[in-house]
Amino acid sequence: MDFSENIYDKHPVYSLSSVLKRDQHEVKYLSFKSNEASKKYFEIFKPELVLYSCFSSEVFMAVRFDRELKKEFQFHSIIGGPGPTFDRKEINSSTIDAIGVGEGEIALIEYINSGFLPNPNIILKNSHTDKSKYYPLAKLDDLPFPDRSVMYDEDIFLREMPSKQFMAGRGCPYHCTYCHNHIIMDEFKEAGPIFRYKSVDYLIREIADVKARYPLQNIVFQDDVFILDKKWLREFCDKFPQIINLPFTCNIRANLINDEIVQLLKESGCVGVSWSIESGNDYLRNKILFRNMSRRVITTAAEMLNRHGIRHRTGNIVGIPGETFEQMLETLELNIEIKPYLAMAYTFVPFPGLALTEYAIKNGHLKPEEIEFIPRTFFKRSVLKFDEALKDKISKLSLLFPLLVKFPALYRIKPIFSTLMTLPLPVLKWVYHWTNIFYTSRMFKVKIANEQKFRGLIRYLQSGM
Ligand code: SF4
Repeated sequence: MDFSENIYDKHPVYSLSSVLKRDQHEVKYLSFKSNEASKKYFEIFKPELVLYSCFSSEVFMAVRFDRELKKEFQFHSIIGGPGPTFDRKEINSSTIDAIGVGEGEIALIEYINSGFLPNPNIILKNSHTDKSKYYPLAKLDDLPFPDRSVMYDEDIFLREMPSKQFMAGRGCPYHCTYCHNHIIMDEFKEAGPIFRYKSVDYLIREIADVKARYPLQNIVFQDDVFILDKKWLREFCDKFPQIINLPFTCNIRANLINDEIVQLLKESGCVGVSWSIESGNDYLRNKILFRNMSRRVITTAAEMLNRHGIRHRTGNIVGIPGETFEQMLETLELNIEIKPYLAMAYTFVPFPGLALTEYAIKNGHLKPEEIEFIPRTFFKRSVLKFDEALKDKISKLSLLFPLLVKFPALYRIKPIFSTLMTLPLPVLKWVYHWTNIFYTSRMFKVKIANEQKFRGLIRYLQSGM
């Protein structure tokens, strides 16, 4: 069960469902709507075990839900996902029985088969993990194909979407301070190589299987960085167009591309890439965010992508601890200079455990107790110690960012920029949503029926993004 709106495919759910079904367990997926609706569902299916899949900001919803439902139903519950893996305070005093730490496929089967006995990756509340005892990280080719039917049977919108998300592998070897990967690497370094790909043949068979069963016109590879292993990428770019032959998008890192890689991507059907700049200020980008990426690498990467006709979307952060408004504008200006198809800017959210969160606390930008009030989305007001006027500007700049990069005159003509920055937040949210929806859908170059577009729009807005 999960608590976020289903806009995209949910790989952890698919993967856990596939190993559970392989072991002959009956699996049902429930997306939270209300306690009452969930109770009806529980009355019919009487689940023995409930799995909550959560980000940090959703843990409180699972805690509340579990407490409420256990007043009327008897079931065992486990909470897992990036939130519970790194922050267990709220769970320790809840009615949830156990916490899944890290990857769950091997541990979950062990847990069930042992009659709910804790193991290295599924621990009881208020107990501790031992880094040296975690199960080895899964070899991805040994896992069954992710089971999409568990959600698609319940969710027509996801099933009928012509654009579907896939994962070619897991993990990322970089140490950006605002991203969970550095914590994962430290926590699970003894459990085997963190960064793993599926073999190209496995991945292509998996996609072919989905293509045979469901509508599929466009593929989104959601791996943190799709192009890390050049040998793997060359094999993929050779086989993918011959067997699947669909347009795709993926995530890249500017320091990993060159003309050969961009050409390969283009020829194999890549129509768009997403990549991160994060800050236009060299000091913030490299010394605070640990991006290790020069301005020249960024501008060269953008030039190559533009020259080869691959549309690209950049990710950026505003409201970095200690950042001034002028430094945020440097980020805007760098984005304007490199001409991405779409540029996004998110307010920094200090999730527990991040190196950047620790930095913010150590340098007086955040009180530890304020982590309790983490906003649910990256567009909420910054919780760092900026003055209130600057917090306003951070929120407004993040919402205007895509529009200003797309139409730089709106920024360069200062009276227009100043006027835009005085608009109320609800208006700017609409500006943001329409810019994002319009250019994202065009970036994927996929034809979607009007009815499906409308449903997608409603779901996107309901997600509170
Ligand atoms: S490159 Fe991306 S996924 Fe990898 S650590 Fe940095 S932000 Fe995270």
